[in-house]
Amino acid sequence: MRWENLSDGPRRGTADAALFGADAVTTRTFDTPEFRGITFHEIRARTIVNRVPGASRMPFEWTVNPYRGCTHACVYCFARKTHSYLDLDTGLGFDSQIVVKVNAPDVLRRQLASPRWHGDHIAMGTNVDCYQRAEGRYRLMPGIIEALRDHANPFSILTKGTLILRDLDLLRQAAAVTDVGISVSVGFLDETLWRTVEPGTPAPGRRLEVVRTLTGHGIGCGVLMAPVIPFLGDHPDQLRATVRAIAGAGAASVTPLVLHLRPGAREWFMEWLGHHHPHLVRRYERLYAEGAYAPKWYQRRITRQVHELAEEFGVGPTRAGAARRIRALRAAPQEDASAPGATQLTLL
Ligand code: SF4
Repeated sequence: MRWENLSDGPRRGTADAALFGADAVTTRTFDTPEFRGITFHEIRARTIVNRVPGASRMPFEWTVNPYRGCTHACVYCFARKTHSYLDLDTGLGFDSQIVVKVNAPDVLRRQLASPRWHGDHIAMGTNVDCYQRAEGRYRLMPGIIEALRDHANPFSILTKGTLILRDLDLLRQAAAVTDVGISVSVGFLDETLWRTVEPGTPAPGRRLEVVRTLTGHGIGCGVLMAPVIPFLGDHPDQLRATVRAIAGAGAASVTPLVLHLRPGAREWFMEWLGHHHPHLVRRYERLYAEGAYAPKWYQRRITRQVHELAEEFGVGPTRAGAARRIRALRAAPQEDASAPGATQLTLL
């Protein structure tokens, strides 16, 4: 493996630095197949612990996000709009222009040691996936978890990435000294749908293997069943198969969340829908006529169905094997993330 620089080599520039609000930017590409077409913008962040705007509506107040942009490339990704704040494209640019805060572990350790920090819960994976493919290269999460472990600081991680298993030992060490909540996002099992709508992610079955492995090692893991995609992943048989598989993986909880389409994601998703499922475009326009969210009656119906299935298949906090010190990440209420700098809760 080697660094493959841009034609003029790693580039540092004050214009980019201003753009990302950091001291310097180094732009790199790699020649390995998994990173072909992806550009990494390495920055040195000044701070890494971010306060959630409107935190009173959230189940957490603080977040750490070592990356911006996500190679998992989910068409519906709610964080797409945040790329526009960097003057980057919210479509393919979001999938392929990845900002990497290379000093995240060091900055976090410094912030945790500050007398002004009071050890509040820190949520990760709430903006973009901290176990996306780039993490295999940059390895920021081990240092982040070590810092949290050493300060016995409670935290949670939400991910679609199987790479989290690389850090299993660290997670166990952290869970021995503080509250750790892990949630894996699996909205459906349909492989055809997965390949087109979540093209950069591990397959749903592999994500459930993560749940199974974590649970098997005493780390209780919840599943955020998100997104439930109307007319493509919401048939009762699909919901049933998904919840049954989640139960079979030993999940400590299941929390359904219906697709929502905020600006930035909406345009990209509707373009995808028109290409892959043109007969559904009018139905979507009607279902999302009021804005970013499906109607309450639809959301309630899905929630009720999933809860009934969860009860039937025995998914819940009382099932055997759920570690007592581990809390599953709860789905957050929706946040208005229209403002630049707002933490965009993607709920992967
Ligand atoms: S939904 Fe999550 S995993 Fe998918 S692209 Fe967005 S941040 Fe990445």
